[in-house]
Amino acid sequence: MYADIRVRFAPSNTGHLHIGGARTALFNWFFAKHHAGTAILRIEDTDRQRSTEEYYDAILAAFDWLGLEWDEGPYRQSRRMDLYKEAADKLLSSGAAYRCTCTPDEVNAMRERARAEGKTPKYDGTCRDRYDKDPNVPFCLRLRAPDVGKAIVDDILTGEVVFENSQLDDMVIVRTDGTPTYNFCVAIDDIDMKITHVIRGNDHLSNTPKQLLVYQALEETSPKFAHISMILGSDKKRLSKRHGADSILDYKERGFLPEALINYLVRLGWSHGDQEIFSKEEIVENFALENLNKSAAVFNPEKLLWLNQEYIKSADGDFLVESLDAGLRAQGLSPDVLTHKSREGIVDELRTRSSTLTEMIDGARFFFENEVDFDEKAASKFLTSENSGLMLKLRNELSKIDMFSSENVKSAFHRVMEEEAVKLGKLAQPVRVAITGGTISPGIFETLSLLGKDRSLHRLDAALARVNQ
Ligand code: GLU
Repeated sequence: MYADIRVRFAPSNTGHLHIGGARTALFNWFFAKHHAGTAILRIEDTDRQRSTEEYYDAILAAFDWLGLEWDEGPYRQSRRMDLYKEAADKLLSSGAAYRCTCTPDEVNAMRERARAEGKTPKYDGTCRDRYDKDPNVPFCLRLRAPDVGKAIVDDILTGEVVFENSQLDDMVIVRTDGTPTYNFCVAIDDIDMKITHVIRGNDHLSNTPKQLLVYQALEETSPKFAHISMILGSDKKRLSKRHGADSILDYKERGFLPEALINYLVRLGWSHGDQEIFSKEEIVENFALENLNKSAAVFNPEKLLWLNQEYIKSADGDFLVESLDAGLRAQGLSPDVLTHKSREGIVDELRTRSSTLTEMIDGARFFFENEVDFDEKAASKFLTSENSGLMLKLRNELSKIDMFSSENVKSAFHRVMEEEAVKLGKLAQPVRVAITGGTISPGIFETLSLLGKDRSLHRLDAALARVNQ
């Protein structure tokens, strides 16, 4: 058991929160919750060129939609400059850091020289022990890297990863313009926030020895690390936009349920037996870093759709009606042309046939339109003078019904089918086209019943008028 767990998710606001970042955030969050620890959100916004307020807001909006609450934060690195300065001063006065007045050209020349000699290209230490520095010459601060020994990253997932200190550069911690550098800020923050476990993508593994140097220089114990494997597309290449690795908020737009996306992302690399569907509570209860898969996970959009459909199937009815109403309003349609009860019936019919909320709303549109939007091919095939007699007969049977239940609608259909000696399909398809505009819908009796008597008769009349034109 781990004591007093503190983890952080540390996105840069240089882009949207994407699939990969969200999964890392979830692993951090569930790990913290499993151990009753603290989950922190820290925005790494020191890249002034590329960080924007829009992305900052979008990242928070994505977490808001996912329903993920952080125990601390959002902290912002841009507001913590005093802390980095204080740490840099401390390192300078202890001698762990030094002022370097070499120009970029000089540093490049050193690298070239080392490369030519077949050595690791790095800063050669010229300023390490120079005491004749003119205070008016611009300088940066460098951290003295040990020349011997090893930096060992003790990673929960990959085991020990060893880096030779001799390969490490005397890294710049404060630039000539006075701004602190990325790896320095990360390490200082992780120390200040008392982070116990750094869980992040393994694309950051090469930063870890640099950050460890900061810990060593400040005589702080380093946190434990878990560098998680990347997510790949189905072509086994690193997940990118062309695989549909859109921002999390795109999934909201496309009608995914946050719970389904969370379930999918957590399962992408983590498993608990062969269970596929997990409530948040179940993940909290069972989550363990040790169960993360060490090899890369492959993003499977079909599986995500399947899972989303499973969540829609069992979603709360009121939630689905609210989603339907909002979707219709967004398309300029009024949900109130049908009662709440009918809309509940509609979402119940559609929940088993929709893999996204968007699909559900699209499938429900025809109920709410004032005029049927005909699929021309279906209309010319089924709304024919040959079928109009049958449709008229049915119209008259329907008009006699008092309680427009699907049972009563069904009886009306059967009366016409018997009298005319036709099978259900022969009658149902023209009616379906008349009512919905197309050939695909939930069961025809349920559809008519949910649409209601007035609207159903009106649509049949309109279709008959169209045939007679
Ligand atoms: N800011 C980094 C990123 O956006 C994460 C750094 C870390 O987790 O240490 O990828």
